Amino acid sequence: MSFTSKGFPMMLTFDLDCETMWTARDPEAHTRPILMSQGAYGWKRGVWRVLEVLKRYDIKSTFFVPGVVVEAHQEVIDALLKDGHEIAHHSHTHRWIVTLTPEEEREEMERAQQAIIKATGEAPRGWRSPAAEVTDVTMDLIKEYDFRYSSNFFDNDEPYMLKVRGAEIDCVELPFRYINTDSPYFQFAKILPGRTITNPRQVLDIWSWEFDTLFAEERMMVLACHPEFIGQPSGAILLDKFIRHVTAQTGVWIDRCDRIAADMRPGLMATA
Ligand SMILES: [Zn+2]
Repeated sequence: MSFTSKGFPMMLTFDLDCETMWTARDPEAHTRPILMSQGAYGWKRGVWRVLEVLKRYDIKSTFFVPGVVVEAHQEVIDALLKDGHEIAHHSHTHRWIVTLTPEEEREEMERAQQAIIKATGEAPRGWRSPAAEVTDVTMDLIKEYDFRYSSNFFDNDEPYMLKVRGAEIDCVELPFRYINTDSPYFQFAKILPGRTITNPRQVLDIWSWEFDTLFAEERMMVLACHPEFIGQPSGAILLDKFIRHVTAQTGVWIDRCDRIAADMRPGLMATA
């Protein structure tokens, strides 16, 4: 039996990091225009191509957007909202959490929260860490900001209620894994030694096998992509073909994380 009332939960999520993908690694990255331009591809071109693919199948998604990107690109936020997508919290500057002081962490949380409220008119319902790290301070903030869901941990293929300092809170964790993200396959840059670009056909196989198995086991799937990569021409074809593979199966509910988490929550509470 499914975790939701509407079938197998499938979430296509997008982290619109743009230039913060590089400035988070190195504050001096802004002095390297060609490196930065790889991030600018996200808001200039990639996100628009992703929107076209989603529109083709009338799919609603969740976009995790750093506060500085929200502030710099209201036109992108407006387009996402117009198409019915969800804007979720992805820190303010995307700086890696393990390098921050508790005060800086709190500032990252609050500034992006305010940026999203200003740009969308409502508080974000979900949170995803920049660069997949959390601290005890982060977990306290997730509780304090009353996020309805978190999509961060790699420990399961099923949703569960998040625990903070040992106590369950009213926040659904939507775990995913690196194999179901695009960056390990496509994020290539001179400053990332050892990274090569994978054939998208191979990635289609990997994601399809992941989906087939998770569907057969009646679990859930979260795909986490970046418009900077999946929004390139071959990436958009990969996304299109993967959506076709998923939608060929009956009984799949593809939707935004906030809606799916809200539907899951009562069942998870009952079995906790
Ligand atoms: Zn990110």
